[in-house]
Order: sequence, then structure tokens, then C-alpha cells
Amino acid sequence: MAAKKRATSTPKQIADGHATPESRVIELRALIRHHNDRYYADDTPEVSDAEYDALVKELAQLEAEYPHLATADSPTSVVGGGSFTTFAPVVHAVPMTSLDNAMDTDELHAWGERIAKGLDGGSCTYVCELKIDGLAISIRYENGVLVQAATRGDGKVGEDVTANVATIAILPKKLTSNAKTPVPEVLEVRGEVYMSIEAFQRLRAEKEAENVRRAADGRGPLSVPVNPRNAGAGSLRQKDSRITAERDLSLWCYQLGEVRGGPEFTHHHDTLDYLKKLGFPVNPEIRAIASLTEVYSFCDEWKEHRHELPYDIDGVVVKVDDLRQRETLGFTSRAPRWAIAFKFPPEERNTALKDIQVSIGRTGRATPFAVLEPVFVGGSTVSLATLHNRDQVALKDVRPGDTVVVRKAGDVIPEVVGPVLSLRPKKSKPWVFPETCPCSLKSTLVKPDDQADTRCVEPSCPFQRDQRIIHFASRGGMDIEGLGERTVFALSDAGYVADVGDLYFVTVDQLLQLEGFADISAKNLVESILLSRTRPLPKLLTALGIKHLGPAASESLAAEFGTLDAIASASNDQLALVEGVGDVIAQSISSWFAKDENKAIINKLRTAGVDFGRVERSSEPQTLAGKAVVVTGTLASYSRDGAEGAIKARGGKSPGSVSAKTFAVVVGSEPGASKVTKAEQLGIPMLDETAFEHLLATGNLP
Ligand code: NAD
Repeated sequence: MAAKKRATSTPKQIADGHATPESRVIELRALIRHHNDRYYADDTPEVSDAEYDALVKELAQLEAEYPHLATADSPTSVVGGGSFTTFAPVVHAVPMTSLDNAMDTDELHAWGERIAKGLDGGSCTYVCELKIDGLAISIRYENGVLVQAATRGDGKVGEDVTANVATIAILPKKLTSNAKTPVPEVLEVRGEVYMSIEAFQRLRAEKEAENVRRAADGRGPLSVPVNPRNAGAGSLRQKDSRITAERDLSLWCYQLGEVRGGPEFTHHHDTLDYLKKLGFPVNPEIRAIASLTEVYSFCDEWKEHRHELPYDIDGVVVKVDDLRQRETLGFTSRAPRWAIAFKFPPEERNTALKDIQVSIGRTGRATPFAVLEPVFVGGSTVSLATLHNRDQVALKDVRPGDTVVVRKAGDVIPEVVGPVLSLRPKKSKPWVFPETCPCSLKSTLVKPDDQADTRCVEPSCPFQRDQRIIHFASRGGMDIEGLGERTVFALSDAGYVADVGDLYFVTVDQLLQLEGFADISAKNLVESILLSRTRPLPKLLTALGIKHLGPAASESLAAEFGTLDAIASASNDQLALVEGVGDVIAQSISSWFAKDENKAIINKLRTAGVDFGRVERSSEPQTLAGKAVVVTGTLASYSRDGAEGAIKARGGKSPGSVSAKTFAVVVGSEPGASKVTKAEQLGIPMLDETAFEHLLATGNLP
């Protein structure tokens, strides 16, 4: 294995400080070779692929601009990977090349033009394949028996990993010939070994747990793989194949290497069909496509849907299908001209973890978050990322001063995946969760043993108070336009609001005292605060931020009781009967309304004229007052809504599920099996439509 050497400076520092193109080229080559060793030999890269690609691109540009600086052994001209000494060397009969990259559709288009030119203007069909983010492998069969498997290495000489590859369950170890699919004397199959996302997460969890045990014993952490690619490559290159066997590796085959004494093919897609028939795993998403426009669509489609796959891909490989055309196009020193890798934008970057701080939510939950050197990743600049809770920080063992891998995949919120251990500063110590709340009261933070969350339990904590106000004004709550976080902090710092009730008494003059407000903006904010008084009851209920009470249960409560006062004075049992509420939420609602500080808030809201809802008076006799009647199946004279409406108009409730508190179940045709079974188990009376009419009229069972 190549000797370990530490990168002495980041790419940026060198780029800023370089003296001449010559010295920069030398620096870049040294850096790229250093990162090749970390990536290919150690399987623990120090920089993200995007940063590595930027170095290679800069080197290629300098070599193009100053051709006298180009050399045959430059990393831009050879297949990355080198040859290492962990495993016995294997000389590839047919070289294993790399691929040229297209980073956007312009570069893909330019490749298309080069292809057309290389074919003297002739057209071609392309085969589009997912670019599996794994490790290239060559697997050799002699007379149908697996005899050798080798990594790519430097393209000419790879490493013998036969024992490890033999542990991959999906790989056929013996091939059987038949008339349609004869097995050649020598068959070399190429593909990508990968680790599925599920297997990766399992491995990561095991490693993190191991690190927690090590920390308890005072031992340093082991490196935890940050992505399936590195985990897969590391697993395949284990000296002990029993470890590889535990890692659940998988494989997609996409190419033939050396073939002796076997069928001849004219098109790439035929070779894939042949491999499939022999029992090799060939990716089902591969498509033969006639035009570059459709190739773009294929790439776009997968860029969008890549996270729906159970394995990682980092792009699409576009290949010319016709094997004679491939011969005409040929190879450069490191890659075929007849193929290109369309790379997706990076979703992982490395950056500095400047600090770990703790934020306090409206219920007092203390959430650690990473303060990062801003980094552009997954389509936006990320400078903060949640670390979820105390256990997560301990599991990931990230520390201020670390270089960390940040991932932002699709719409998912940015995540700090883990530290780059090889770059950890020598004197670094594990981060310790603060014992006190970061607010001015500095009250003690509490973590019950049976819970993952640490909390500030001081009710007057100003941070909690501010978060409650922010929640009240948010879109899901009273939706007060123009009342964002910053204004809430300013209002509360100035002492103008201490709870959500105070918002309705904020004046234009007060706002004018705050930074950033002028006449119009102050008037607009006061107006939009007052406008929010007409929000419907479910919004108001959600906005109050009662623990466990979400929008769906708020809707049901509002529909059932009609007014805030009716909800406030309802008993636990009455609340728990409402669909989606149950005992825990009912208890939380009752205790919220019982507290003096919340009674004061309700009074302020009432004084301000906030709409507390109203009860629609029914003209029907209230025969079902306080009774819960469940309806299931189809009735002849009532729609479902009609039947439930008839129950409610008579003062009853019509929940969606049967419980011990249900008075009766009205059963129509094709009823819900679970409701009927539950009613039978609990001995709840079941009524047909006639009995239902009787119940509505009298409130009694027939
Ligand atoms: P590449 O990964 O861009 O493309 C070539 C490889 O794609 C092939 O060797 C094969 O393994 C793979 N591949 C996946 N699906 C394929 C398919 N359907 N058909 C054909 N090939 C398929 O090039 P490379 O030379 O292997 O590696 C360079 C890349 O590796 C860099 O762009 C970077 O992303 C990464 N790298 C990162 C670091 C680092 O420090 N972060 C260092 C070295 C390399």
C-alpha cells in the first residue's frame, strides 16, 4: 500500500498562493496523487469527490493551456488507483479504463459532437446506464468456473480479490451452457461492486455503536464510513474475506472483458442480454436510446429520481451501442472515446465544523446544531445543520475544529455525516453537551434516562417563549405575514411581548423603536397581526402550541366542539372521544388550559377580539347528546357524511373508530371488517338502518 502522507494544505490555499503554472501543476499532481491514495488505497478520502474533481479539472485546464507541461504520467492521463501491495497483482488482459466526465448538458452535447465527428457525421444509438457509485471489478471464468476477480488498480494491473468477490451472494460462481447461451472457454465480466443503502446504514450503526463503547473505555474512535461507496470499497478490499462476507455486498454487471471461444456480438446491448441470460445481475434501468435529446431526458429523469433507488448512483454512463463504431472511435490513454459519464451535481462536500451550539425549542427541547464554514452543496449554501440530540453527537463523534462531510440530498435537510478522522486536530476532545440553557437564565438542562431529548424545564425561559411566539405566527398557525423570527426576537428583547397574547397590543410606535421598521412597514405589521384575529379555530388551536396537539386533531376538536371555550371546559373523557385525540392529547389539552399563565393568554386573545369560533345551533332535538355513534359500510338512505351529520345535528359524535366508549355502531352493506370485529369484541350494539332511524328519533336502542 502506498505510504501515508498528510495533505499539507487545502486546494484553496495552494490555488491562492501558487507562483507559476509550472509550480501549480506540480502541486496539483502531488495533491491529486495524495487524494488518489486516500481514496483508492485507504478507502477513506479526505476531500469530497467534488473537491477532487475540481483539482483534476484545474490540472487539465493548465495542461491544455500550457501543452509543454503535459506528461504521460499526469493524473489526467492515467487511470487513477495505482497498484497496491495488499493483494497479489493481476494483469488485465484487456485494460480497465476510466471514463471521461460531462458535468452538464453542454459538456454532454460537446461529447455528442465529438462522436459525430469521429464517425464522419454518421449517427449512432446510445445505451444509457446508471453510473453505480461503487468499485469496478473484473471477474474471470474459465470453462464456466469463477477463477479470478480483480480490482481496476491502475487499469493495467489490479488486485486479486477473488476470495472476497466469491462472497457476493448474487454473483454466479458456476455458469451453465445451453444451446442459446454457450459458455465460452474464457469469459471476463466487468461490473461495479456496491453496498446497498440499507447494508451501509446497518454497518454505520454497528461502527457508531462500537465507537461509543470505545469512548467509554477511553479508546479513540475508529473511522465510520461516510457513504456506501467508501464502505463498499473498504469491504471488498478486506484481507479477511469473512469480513467481506458479513458486509452484504452486491453487484451490477455492465461489460465484457476478455472473451475466448464464445459468441461474437455486434452491439453492446446484446452483450448485456447475454450476461443476463447467463445469470449475471444486469441493471434493469438500462435503455438503448436513439437521440442525444432523449439521452438528456434520461439523465434529467435520474437526477430527479436517484434517491428512489436502494443504492447510490452518481450519474449516468452513456455508451455508443455499435461495437464497430466503438472500434472506430477508440480510446484516449485513460478512457474510451465512445462513452461518457454524465455526473450529477455533488451532494456531499467537506467543510470545517466551526462550533456546536444548542438551540431551545418551544417545548424546551435542546437541539445541538453544527455551525459550519458555509459550503455549497446539493443546490444551496449550508452553514448550519441539525445534529438532532446528544446521542447523535456522541455517535457521530463530531468535534469543533473537525473537517466534516456534509450531505444534502434532494429535498432532505442538510446532514453532518461524520468527521474526516485523518484530518482531526491532534488535541481535539469530544464535544460535551452543555449543562445549562444558553438563555440568560442559565437554568439546568435535564435529560431523563429513558428519553433521547435533553430539555430546558424552566417555564419562563426566554428562548422557549420566543419559539412559542414564532410558532404562533407561523404559516401553520395564525399565519401573520411579516412577523418573522428576527422581529419576534426584537419585540421580546424590547419587552413589548412576553407571550402570544401581547402580540395583539403591539403598536406602530413601538415597532418604530425597533431597527428596520419605518412608518409603512410598522403599519403593515400591525394590520397583519390584527387581520390574523379572524383565522379559523383549528388554526388558533394549533398556534397555541399545546404539546402533542397537531393540525389534524385541532380540526377534529374544532368540528366537534365549535368554540375554544367549549374545548377549554370539556372534560378529559369528552376530549379523548374525539377522532385523532385520545388520552394523551386530551390530558395535555386539559392541563394547558388549567395553567394560570395560559388562562391569562386566553384573556388577552379574547380582549383583542380573536375569533374563538361559534357553535352552529341545530334545530333537531338533542337526542344523542354526549353519545358516540360509529357508522360503517353503505346505507340506503344516507350518504356517509349525511349519516354522520344526522348524528352530530342531534348532539352526538361520530368518531372514525370503535372503542369501549362507543354507544352503538350503525352497520350498512360492505362494512369495515375491523370495526365490526371490534364492536363484537367489546359487545357494542350494532344497528341496521331501521334501528338507526329509531336511535336518531329517540336516542334509545330499539
Ligand atoms: P469515474 O468514477 O468518474 O468513472 C469510471 C468508473 O465508473 C468505472 O471505472 C466504473 O467503476 C464506474 N461505473 C459505474 N457504473 C458504470 C457503468 N454502468 N458503466 C461503466 N462504468 C461504470 O472515474 P474513476 O477514474 O473511477 O474515478 C474518478 C472519480 O472518483 C472522481 O471523479 C471522484 O468522483 C472519485 N475520486 C474521489 C477522490 C476523493 O478524494 N474524494 C479521489 C479519487 C477519485
